Amino acid sequence: MESFAYVRAGSLAEAAEAFAAHPGARYLGGGTNLVDLMKLGVERPTALVDVTRLPLDRVTELPDGSLRIGALVRNSDLAAHPRVRAGWPALSQALLAGASGQLRNAATTGGNLLQRTRCPYFQDVSKPCNKRRPGSGCGALDGVHRDHAVLGHSEQCIATHPSDMAVALAALDAEVELYGTAGVRRVAAADFHRLPGAHPERDTVIDPGELVTAVVLPAASAGVPSAYRKARDRASYAFALASVAAVLEVADGVVARVGLAFGALAHRPWRARAAEEALRGGAPTRAAFEGAVDLELAAARPLRDNAYKLPLARNLAVDVLSRLVPAEEDA
Ligand code: SF4
Repeated sequence: MESFAYVRAGSLAEAAEAFAAHPGARYLGGGTNLVDLMKLGVERPTALVDVTRLPLDRVTELPDGSLRIGALVRNSDLAAHPRVRAGWPALSQALLAGASGQLRNAATTGGNLLQRTRCPYFQDVSKPCNKRRPGSGCGALDGVHRDHAVLGHSEQCIATHPSDMAVALAALDAEVELYGTAGVRRVAAADFHRLPGAHPERDTVIDPGELVTAVVLPAASAGVPSAYRKARDRASYAFALASVAAVLEVADGVVARVGLAFGALAHRPWRARAAEEALRGGAPTRAAFEGAVDLELAAARPLRDNAYKLPLARNLAVDVLSRLVPAEEDA
């Protein structure tokens, strides 16, 4: 065990100050991923800045009808929240599809967004991994990569992002609120995670020292039919092989609003912009869904062992979208 400093922050300013005072520090929330990675020697922080006493554990309805979720709200509490279940059901479903009951009781909203890939080479310090040690190579490229990316990957890294929750947030047009020395800013959830490019060591667009303080669900997607579905190797406590979050509003027989995001296909939740564009304004038929998803997945570059993800993701997306069509509109 390596020694590290421990600081319990009493305010946001104190947290930022402690982080800046310890180069190599990490913020500590639920610890369900960070502490595991420390035990494996993957994360070796010089200091843990404990933010669990900050007042970020509330879900607040804002005057404009949006919902502000504090970064310390536990995954279980968020999944069960009546406003979330009624207004943004895809988020509740995605949370319940992740991890186990015990982990969801401990894991926080902010920590869920910031969890690291479960690529086995990343978690094994004896293996090359550009994400863990830039420049060391990618063990998965010619190794075991059945669970890895089919979209947006690079020669440097083919990892996928493991969060279910983040996929729903991307489809729902949620925003992530960040606090840093320059103040507070908001980033679209769909743009919060990065593609690997030449710098797979960076998972997100977060700046050093910035802290996730909240996630905001927009009023515009409240009450719009939405759903999340996940395919995995076993019925529970497993990461996705492919997953889909969809938001679909049909008015006067045409698609008035659509949000579609894939999980487990890329280094970030994959917002299916091309498919959405193809669907908007058209009839919500199965053939239209198939065509739109095919258009999106045409950009895929499957690896030696993971081409199976493409028909899996296609079928999931077509099924989820079809089930969101109101019965009276069913073709
Ligand atoms: Fe590391 Fe990414 Fe390669 Fe996995 S896929 S070994 S995380 S560089």
